[in-house]
Amino acid sequence: MHKHAFDHISMLFASDRPNLNEVPETDGSWKFRLFPLGSIKPSGWLKTQMQKDMDGFVGNLDKLVPELINDPIYGTERLHSKSKTKELGNLKSGDPEGEEHYKWWNSETQSNWWDAYIRNALLLDDKPSIEKAKTYIDRILFTQDKDGYLGIYDKELRYKFTSENGELWSKTTLYRGLLAWYEGTGDRIVLDALLKAVHNVMQNYPLNQSDPFNAGNGLSGGVAHGLTFTDVLDKMHQITGDQRYLDYAVFLYLNFSQNYSSEKDAQLNSILDKDYKLQSHGVHTYEHLRPLTVAAFVSGNEELVKALSIYISSIEKTTTLTGSPIGDEWIDGRNADATQTGYEYCSIHELTDSYSLLLRMTGNCQFAEKIENTFFNGAQGSRNPDHSCIAYLKTDNSFEMMGTKNGEIDPGRKQTRYKYSPVHQDVAVCCVPNAGRISPCFLQSCWLIEDNNILVAVVLCPNILQTTVKNIPLRIEEITNYPYDNRFHFKISGGEDMNIRLKVRKPEWAKTIKTKEKYSLENGFILFNRKFSRNDSLELEFSTDIRVREDLNHEKYFTYGALIYARPIAAREIPGIVYAPGFKDFNYIPMDLTLYGFSSNNNAVFRDGRISVRLINSKTKKKEMVELIPFGKTILRQVSFK
Ligand SMILES: [Zn+2]
Repeated sequence: MHKHAFDHISMLFASDRPNLNEVPETDGSWKFRLFPLGSIKPSGWLKTQMQKDMDGFVGNLDKLVPELINDPIYGTERLHSKSKTKELGNLKSGDPEGEEHYKWWNSETQSNWWDAYIRNALLLDDKPSIEKAKTYIDRILFTQDKDGYLGIYDKELRYKFTSENGELWSKTTLYRGLLAWYEGTGDRIVLDALLKAVHNVMQNYPLNQSDPFNAGNGLSGGVAHGLTFTDVLDKMHQITGDQRYLDYAVFLYLNFSQNYSSEKDAQLNSILDKDYKLQSHGVHTYEHLRPLTVAAFVSGNEELVKALSIYISSIEKTTTLTGSPIGDEWIDGRNADATQTGYEYCSIHELTDSYSLLLRMTGNCQFAEKIENTFFNGAQGSRNPDHSCIAYLKTDNSFEMMGTKNGEIDPGRKQTRYKYSPVHQDVAVCCVPNAGRISPCFLQSCWLIEDNNILVAVVLCPNILQTTVKNIPLRIEEITNYPYDNRFHFKISGGEDMNIRLKVRKPEWAKTIKTKEKYSLENGFILFNRKFSRNDSLELEFSTDIRVREDLNHEKYFTYGALIYARPIAAREIPGIVYAPGFKDFNYIPMDLTLYGFSSNNNAVFRDGRISVRLINSKTKKKEMVELIPFGKTILRQVSFK
């Protein structure tokens, strides 16, 4: 079907396109199939970091903002026509006009947080947290009405909107967490509740005969967020194999496109307009890459496929060298800039999630490269290396973190987003939950299944895969300190000796592959095809060099393997609001803001995880030896050099 429709993006998606004719078995006709949540567990440094997050800002957010997390908005306090705007404890600076979105906001905060909590608890086998999650699951299922409705509106309001609302969005965030719980535990009661709940949506907003995205001409951020209900539909389809979920996802995207939206970047007309520049609230723009991807691949529609290709290219222009997309908070037609364009933690997460879907759909390694770049550099670089907290907004070149962007004067508005906080309640408690969602999201692309019989290590990091091949248990431990080291030891233990087809992605920066194994290369993957004994192993190493690369503005930066290196700027740490013992905000002011210029004759050397390089001191105009460290381990820093 529509074979020619994919020619537009055949250059972009170099590997095989999905055959949309095939009736999906369990996970559609995408190139790769996901393992259910829980099959891939973190190990090594990633596990340590996730455990620290659970002991820190991820595991304790409910104690820091109990009034937001415990608001029974899905239950006894569902919204009705006389509901008042909620007091969320924020300063409301930089928010859009109107207060309608404050009504549904707690649903996003608590559901995204629970989503992060559930996934981290299950992936870490954290028994007390799993118990706590179970109590939450029971409580939330208890709010479901007989007809299946599981959401935040009373009967008089639900499904009858013509203006801003959180109907689909409050469900998306909640159902994604419930789906994670079902996948991780196999709890059939939760799946039954979800089947009924999604059915209730599809009944009340019937396919092609309803107008769920009709939200008038005002601000409609909540309605637009609701387009990511396609995440739920995609997962329901993976679980059940029922094509109707995917058809409904296409309907939602088309209906979104046909209506007015204040967040119009991903609308078909916007994308196909040659003069259009991305301008919406960044988080919306990047999360909407997923509904568009699903709509394009499911329908095979030529226009949608073309639009997807254009949209991917447009997003690349808003993305900095660390893979971090403009999100401070509206894109406003700008291109990415290492010093000027800030990115929100939410946008980093949403774009990573969207690239994970594109990777699964296309099998194209370029999306794995993007995921690794964003996760290892941008996302790590927005975490505080010393305390359990994250930056709401951050720039690649970060010269101070005192609330505003690199010391910018911001009259009339009290900007507080450029600081590190375990909460960020003065703005919105959105980034902290999403900072807890990104590691589980990243992990799901570590192993994918191709053609039902090839195990593919796509995104690389320390992890343990536990699965079965033809009913025989198989465990593969990927022992590595990657990306801080480029050596891998795959420890394979099976129920018996078996022939396994195993692929490992060859990173685009890898100069040579060192291994004693026989292998062949295939579309950017290294294929090993041999008999593995029940206790076997596979050794692999990639060699690389320091690379000097250029961003969109021709500023230079240094990489070694998957990591970007930056010059840390010594800073004075200033503690801020204290939320609870061990949980506080931190600001940073530079001690000496000497910047450096690029020199092509720089004698760069990589040694012990650092790059030594000769750069030009902007004050003395003389060359100096400067030490660069992994970007993700810095607070204030210079990463690009003119
Ligand atoms: Zn956010």
